[in-house]
Amino acid sequence: MGCSSKGCGTSIDGLSYLPENIREKVENHPCYSQEAHHFYARMHVAVAPACNIQCNYCNRKYDCANESRPGVVSELLTPEEAVKKVLAVAMEIPQMTVVGIAGPGDPLANPDRTFRTFELIKEKAPDIKLCLSTNGLRLTDFVDRIKDLGIDHVTITINAVTPETASKIYSWIFYNHKRYKGIEAARIILEKQYEGLQACVERGILVKVNTVFAPEINGEELEELSKKVRRMGAFLHNIMPYVEGEGTVYQKLGVRPPTPQELKEVQEKCEPHMSLMRHCRQCRADAVGLLGEDRGQEFTKDKIIHLQVNYSAEYRKSIHEEIEKERAKLKKARELMALPLEEEGKKVLVAVASKGNMLVNEHFGTAHEFLIYEVSSQGIKFIHHRKVTPYCHGSIACLEGGDILEDTISKLSDCEAIIAAKIGFEPRDLLEQKGIKCVEEFAYLPIPEALTKYYEKYVLEKVKTEG
Ligand code: SF4
Repeated sequence: MGCSSKGCGTSIDGLSYLPENIREKVENHPCYSQEAHHFYARMHVAVAPACNIQCNYCNRKYDCANESRPGVVSELLTPEEAVKKVLAVAMEIPQMTVVGIAGPGDPLANPDRTFRTFELIKEKAPDIKLCLSTNGLRLTDFVDRIKDLGIDHVTITINAVTPETASKIYSWIFYNHKRYKGIEAARIILEKQYEGLQACVERGILVKVNTVFAPEINGEELEELSKKVRRMGAFLHNIMPYVEGEGTVYQKLGVRPPTPQELKEVQEKCEPHMSLMRHCRQCRADAVGLLGEDRGQEFTKDKIIHLQVNYSAEYRKSIHEEIEKERAKLKKARELMALPLEEEGKKVLVAVASKGNMLVNEHFGTAHEFLIYEVSSQGIKFIHHRKVTPYCHGSIACLEGGDILEDTISKLSDCEAIIAAKIGFEPRDLLEQKGIKCVEEFAYLPIPEALTKYYEKYVLEKVKTEG
């Protein structure tokens, strides 16, 4: 048994299906490779305040909701401050391989600040990959500059195929010194987004398409959208659930977010057509660290301003070599575990508590999220993560965490088992009352190994005994 699906990054090492030149670009990119996100970190620098469109799911008081969770405000930096922060993070968290500009507005509505930041990073830390996330309105204007700067990864948020649907998503756009509304705005932005996608692909830039999924608005169009962006040469499609934001047009209209089941269904519809990103955490515009963790508070402006940073690409390289040795060991272990394919057999959902390095290394009570996998005789497929509030902050607070615990258990209610490094007595009782098995015996094993062992011991054996 191995990671079987495109959702797991495709094939056993996640990337082996890719041509060598593309593999090099993505193998240590935590967003473009599902496997890499267990090992490598990213950071966003918030240098781009202005925006040139108004999305109905976004409130301009906060970060751009095309990449970030709504309701989040980032600390705005100048390009010089941003670069200082990048260098400081690069030495403190050497597994950080990628710097992205994703807001808080649109990077290409702030071209001077955005490109100045990228130029400085390229000059001072050329080993760091550069990423840009945009609504696409001005992408064709800047695509050559993007290419010349060596920005290999561009994310475009495209939410519709038809102008009719797009007109329910954008209130207005500001383009060529003029404000457009309604269907006219919708036509222009879609045209510019798809042109931008094509222009990037023609220049060998890898494109990830983000789509904010609101079932009543664009749910019917997503399969077509996936097919279209695939045909045009996009590399990944990231279908992000719309999250209700304070004071947005959608909140006033009562537009509802998708349920986890609706998200899973739409991903299943799109997956035959297109590689999907399933591990996006909708990070804030100043996020720092592994996906799923945010160490931004360690690198605020007041903390970095007086820092003396001695950047060493050599040191970073030595850390990356260690990481690659670990990854190679894990890959070998997974290959040894690969079973001949059988009938698909029983499929089960299993929640895993991990804080990185692809290991079962987190306690149930301190987990901020669970990784949800579908396991069957045919393989292991990563489905998505589910955020939870840790109910345990030391023994006293643990006792007060009843409601939080209930909430976590209800979020995991469709899982057959939870695999964690440790699960306390109280949650164990409650989970087992709900029919969810608590498994600690695979603590600190690599996740694929733990899932395989779980499946063999508790699913296959049970089927044999019962059969
Ligand atoms: S928002 Fe998604 S794509 Fe962007 S850095 Fe976070 S995980 Fe990666």
